[in-house]
Amino acid sequence: MQDEPTRSPTTTADVLGWQTNYRIALALLAGAVTVGLRTLGSLNLSPVADRVVGTELAEWFLGLVPVGYALLVIGIRAWVQRQRAAGQTLSTLMAVADLAVVFWLVFLLARVEQYHLGLLLALFSLQLTHVYFGRAPALLTLVATATAYLLLNDLADRHGATVVWGEVFITLAVFGVGALLVTRVQSHLHERLGTLVQIFERAQEGDFSGSYDVSADARPDAITAVGRAYNRMRTELASIVLTDPLSGCFNRRGFEQQYRRELARAARTQTPLALLAIDLDHFKQVNDTHGHLVGDQVIAGVGELLRASARQDDVVARTGGEEFTILAPNTGMDGALQLAQRVVEAFRRRSFGEPTARIPVTVSIGVASDAVRDDGMGEALRARADEALYAAKRMGRDRVITWSPDPARAAFPR
Ligand code: GH3
Ligand code: MG
Ligand code: MG
Repeated sequence: MQDEPTRSPTTTADVLGWQTNYRIALALLAGAVTVGLRTLGSLNLSPVADRVVGTELAEWFLGLVPVGYALLVIGIRAWVQRQRAAGQTLSTLMAVADLAVVFWLVFLLARVEQYHLGLLLALFSLQLTHVYFGRAPALLTLVATATAYLLLNDLADRHGATVVWGEVFITLAVFGVGALLVTRVQSHLHERLGTLVQIFERAQEGDFSGSYDVSADARPDAITAVGRAYNRMRTELASIVLTDPLSGCFNRRGFEQQYRRELARAARTQTPLALLAIDLDHFKQVNDTHGHLVGDQVIAGVGELLRASARQDDVVARTGGEEFTILAPNTGMDGALQLAQRVVEAFRRRSFGEPTARIPVTVSIGVASDAVRDDGMGEALRARADEALYAAKRMGRDRVITWSPDPARAAFPR
């Protein structure tokens, strides 16, 4: 069996919080009904309880056990509310208290041949424990239930009741197999829900690479349907979340994700990674002269041109208003410089804003490339490309500058 998703202490606290109200209500109702019926004389005490604790004490217990249980539950709730967290100890304590009250009432009221009612009632507690607290407390509840059932029969046996042990063991075996099967099915559901939660959490981070494996579900159910729906939406979601609608390039979030991935890949494969920081020259003038709408139209054309200039594996992103970045995997300084010059020349040959205008736009590009040796390389490459871009601006724009550790040796081809 795989591990189920872990439950956080706050989730356990929340669940314990809302379950306590039901527990208190049920316990008080059970207490009131049994005491009421007993007072009316329409409920007999179990002969075994009569013998073991005496009629008077057994009657007291009928009322005291549910009230004691309710007080314990209120205490646990107050503790959880104060701590705002609950661990497995508390959820296990709650399950054990459930069992104690169930078997006490069975002991006080049921005849020996009705003791299996305890197993039936314990099944509810087992189910609640498993659904909300997980497999370990559930298996513990299962063992505790079986033990309580055997102890009850043993007590009855030792106090003169006729216990048919063969039947006791068959009942217990049927209960055990049934409960284990239910637990198994429940665990399987939890595992699959956990998988879905993981996929959603990754999507929340902007990582849409994971899909739900529908083929692994031999018997498709509601969870499969949710997985299928996610798979259908995945591509659409990825494009909404990771691309910039105006330029059609990756947005900053999409770029960051691709950058992390490529940095890791470059480190693993010992290949260089190149970064091109691209900024449109005097773009403010374009807006001032032609208006923002035409400016937007230019940005859309620029995105298209950059994507056409880059290779399939390159990542083209709009990382600022009129700033773009091209990430070129497996590309050394020479290759990156070639790409940058190709881009600069493509801009020189083209104009934007047609059909309303013919606006020439030039770009300045800072280039950095290096092997990825450590975790700091991502930031270093970015800073180098920016530094080279500023140098390109300072030197008159419409040009490429490659970063070099020695500024005197930086390449600045026009
Ligand atoms: P430089 O050559 O120094 O880069 O000059 P610049 O005018 O391009 O630089 P500056 O940073 O001064 O101005 C950038 C301009 O880009 C200002 C801003 O209005 C414009 N801009 C940024 N994002 C958008 C956008 O989404 N649409 C439009 N139309 N304009 C934008
Ligand atoms: Mg600019
Ligand atoms: Mg700028």
